[in-house]
Formats: sequence, C-alpha cells, structure tokens
Amino acid sequence: MRQSQMFIPTLKEVPSDAESASHQFLLRGGFIRQNAAGIYSYLPLGYKIIKKIEAIIREEMDRTGAQELLMPAMQPAELWHESGRWDVYGPELMRLKDRHGRYFAMGATGEELVTSLVRDSLNSYKKLPMSVYQIQTKYRDEKRPRFGLLRGREFIMKDAYSFHATEESLDEAYWKMFQAYKNVFERCGLKFRAVLADSGAMGGKDTHEFQALAEIGEDTIAYSDQSDFAANLEMAPVVTRKNSSERKILPLEKKSGKTTVSNDRMISARWFKTRVETILVFLKASDEVNDVKVKNLLGTDLVEPLKSEHTPDALQAAEGVRILADQELLSLSQAEFYNEAEDMTYSNVDSERDLHVEKFADLRFVKEGDPSPDGKGTIQFAKGIEIGQVFKLGTKYSETMGALFLDEEGKNKPLIMGCYGIGISRTLSAICEQYHDEKGLIWPKSLAPFDVHLITVNPKNDEQSALSKKLYGELSGHGFDVLWDDRRERPGVKFADSELIGCPVQIVVGKKAGDSIIEIGSRKGQAAGRKEIQTDGLTGAVAELLSQL
Ligand code: ATP
Ligand code: MG
Repeated sequence: MRQSQMFIPTLKEVPSDAESASHQFLLRGGFIRQNAAGIYSYLPLGYKIIKKIEAIIREEMDRTGAQELLMPAMQPAELWHESGRWDVYGPELMRLKDRHGRYFAMGATGEELVTSLVRDSLNSYKKLPMSVYQIQTKYRDEKRPRFGLLRGREFIMKDAYSFHATEESLDEAYWKMFQAYKNVFERCGLKFRAVLADSGAMGGKDTHEFQALAEIGEDTIAYSDQSDFAANLEMAPVVTRKNSSERKILPLEKKSGKTTVSNDRMISARWFKTRVETILVFLKASDEVNDVKVKNLLGTDLVEPLKSEHTPDALQAAEGVRILADQELLSLSQAEFYNEAEDMTYSNVDSERDLHVEKFADLRFVKEGDPSPDGKGTIQFAKGIEIGQVFKLGTKYSETMGALFLDEEGKNKPLIMGCYGIGISRTLSAICEQYHDEKGLIWPKSLAPFDVHLITVNPKNDEQSALSKKLYGELSGHGFDVLWDDRRERPGVKFADSELIGCPVQIVVGKKAGDSIIEIGSRKGQAAGRKEIQTDGLTGAVAELLSQL
C-alpha cells in the first residue's frame, strides 16, 4: 500500500489526555481517534490489527467446536427484566427508548439474549452440549473510561456461551476454552497469566481471568516465582506459617494507652458489616483483612468496613457481633492487643481464651514473600490487565429465564451454562503496553499492520523512486505486506512516523539507490541496527529478518 494514499494521520505531539503508552502511541501512530469519552474510531491501520486479532480468535473458537453467530447490540429490556439485571446492573447499562416507548439495553454482555435464543430449541439432552460465539460491540457506561481502548464505553468483545446437560460436560468445555484462550494470547505474542478469580458477584463457580502483565494494569496478581500458580490478589489463598513458639497460657495483663512497640505477636481488630450483622475480624497487626475471603466464608454478597465512631468493645462478645479470626492466630498466646474501646493495651492475650472467636480461617491478603499455596516457590506480585475471562455460569440464567431441557430420565432441568469473554479492543491496547519503546510501537509479527515499511528517502530523486517501485513490486509478489512511504515529506518526518507505526522490518532506499544498495533492519534493532545490502538478495533478507523476530 502506498502511504501517500492511506489515511494514517500521525501526530507529532503527545495528546494531553493520553496517560498510558498504549493510548499515546495508538493516537500518535494514527491507529485510532477518539469521538467521545471512551468512544473511538478504529482508523485503517488500527482496524487492520483488530481484524488480525479477530482472525486468530475465530480460528481458535472454531477449533473448540463453537459456532459463530451475530446477535444484536440492541437488546429488548424485557429480557433484562426476566433475569433481574435491568434493576441490578446499575448505571453502567446504557438504556434507550424507541418511538413506541419500548425500552432497550445496549448490550453490555449477552447472557440474556443467548438464553432467550436457545430456550425453546435446546430442549433435550440429545441436543447438548452446544456452544456459540460472536464478535460484537459492547456498551458499558463506565464511571471512569480511561487509557484509550483499555476501558472504553463502547468496545469490541468476543463472547461465547456453552450449554450442557451435566457438570462434567461443562467442565470439559471450560478447559477446552481455557486452552483456546491460552492459544489466542500466545499467538498475539502477549506475556500473560491465567489467574484464579472471584466468581462471587455473578453467582457462578470456577472462573479464571487472563491477565496481560503490564505496569498500568488495574489488577494485582499474586503468582509463584517457581510454578504456574497465579491468582487475583483477593483470591490467593494463604498457607499458614507455623507460629514459632509453643502456646503458653499466662495471666492477662493490661495497661492504659497504646503501646508503641510493634512485634509479630501484635493483634489488630477490624470491624465490618454485612446486610444483617456486625463482623469483627482479629488478625496479626501487620496483615490486612481480605473482605472477599470474609464474604465467601459467610456466604454473603456484601461486606463493608463499619463506619462507626464507637465500635463495640472487641473483648466483650456482644450480641449481634460475629467474631472471626485469621488462621494465623490459632494457638497464638502471649500476644498483644490494643483495645480501642477501653484505651488499654493487653498483653499475654491468648487467642482461644480471650477473643471469643467463632471461627479461625484464612482471612488475610497474601503478601509478597509468602510461600506459594501449591508448595512451589514464593509469592510475587505483578500488575495485570484483564483481557479475557472464562466462567462456569451454572444455571443462573436458565433458571430465571426458564431455559429447560429434558434429561435422559425425562425430567425437566435448567441448562447448565458457561460464558467466555475476550476484550478484543482491550487486547490491542495490552499488546501496545508490552510492545513499544520511547519512539513508538514495535508490533509482534503475527499482528503487525504490515510486514515491511519501505521508506523512500527522497521520492523526487528518480533513481530512488524507480528502485523503490521495483522493490515494492518484488516484495509484494513474494507475499510480503508492504507499506511504501512514497510521500513527499522530509526524511525526519518519515523516519519518525515509521518508528511510531512500528512495522517489524524497515527498508530504506536512499542515496545509494543508483548502485542498487539499500538499508535493511528491524524496527526493534532501531536505526543503528540497519545494514546495507545489495537489492538482489532482498526478499531472502526480509524473510530471514522476519524469521528471527
Ligand atoms: P473489568 O473488571 O475490567 O471492568 P469485567 O470483568 O467487568 O472487566 P467481563 O464482563 O468479564 O469484564 O467482560 C469480558 C472482557 O471484556 C473482559 O475480560 C475485558 O477484556 C473486556 N472488557 C470489559 N470491560 C471493558 C471496557 N470497559 N473496555 C474494554 N474492554 C472491556
Ligand atoms: Mg471479567
């Protein structure tokens, strides 16, 4: 493609509202443009890459046996009423009214729609399992759209749904999808981890998120430095370290005020509330309560810090207060505790004698340096961008929406479902976060908008122009996708744009064109890494360079 004829509006300056590298370079390289907060156009270069990511996804989805369909982005409100989500989804769900006064939701996700599509037809175990997927624009009125395509209000998602007669069948599909997701992200060249995630809010069972590793990621991943173990911070189990000394029960002592000495035997009290009761959690003062673990232990959907000036006395088991303690307090004696209600510091506290604990359990956040729960290595933290999620949904939607099938014994049962999403536009940004330098993007070859950027330094020079044209024809003839910068621009502008756009191989046709000598190098190797070669060996040299990337 001749660059003079292509719409690639590059920018010299860094746009003021673009905080992340991916956002900056996608704008500056002429890949995308913003139309409103969190709403973007994909320009020809950006859309070319989106289509490559989609092609990889389609191949991997088809390979699992899932069938592609396309459902509308605009979904009748009745379906969301049936599932109950019209009321609980909140302001993130974009809603609109047609000329007849009927309400619609702009699809934030597709469980309702797909359930309504299959509920009359998938009515027998003989028709199961069945999986479908689509690539469709999704809408979420995010509170803080940011980082360009990373958190948009309109974005491209691949969503897949599977339907089963048995849990075993769901399990099989789940792990097949899990593998397909691994393949997709590997083929996109991403550094990522599949992490154990919390399924609480959606009422399902197993779930994994695929997290692309990146400093600007919003999620913290706890992973083992020596194994595949990885979990979202809030999900990572803690394996107890044994208390270093024997339990020794001594008489409780107290003195007024707060002690300033801190040690490993210092206990803290943290107060929370659920919808129905007050929760007190004791744990080591150096640790933090993981509210998701408390939520899961209590089987409740809401646990929030108790905002009260006067919390009850932590050492008096009061009516309506449930007392829990982190497992590391089990058998802990000779501990210290500052009781705020009395403004007293107690010593020789024995967790079992003095704290009235109903249950000891794993309730704290894992910390860097803790042993990995699988027994291999230690826990480290990394930041991640959630690019995909696989989810065992169970019967939540089939039950509320009446999607039933007849099992082998002729009994009516709700379909068992799985759902599986990939944020395609977010994946594009995640790739940019991992593949750039200070000058611009450096595309992995599987996704690059073009294989080769052919730069004619001075198109007004006949020799340069003629040689470039010949090479463009030759390379294209050998199947390479070439972007030919034939523009009448200053060389400085051309080189800067080429670094921004980031095609894997760069070829420069300059002063030595008359001798059939050109320069070739990889974008990664930068200008200093370019070598002069004779043009007759060019296609071989390009193939070799690409194979090394
Ligand atoms: P997040 O926690 O980041 O808001 P989510 O868990 O709500 O995302 P899912 O419902 O699991 O998202 O959607 C499937 C995939 O769609 C996500 O894994 C992510 O890659 C992508 N996605 C979700 N929200 C957005 C968004 N606002 N912009 C771009 N991609 C998104
Ligand atoms: Mg998710």
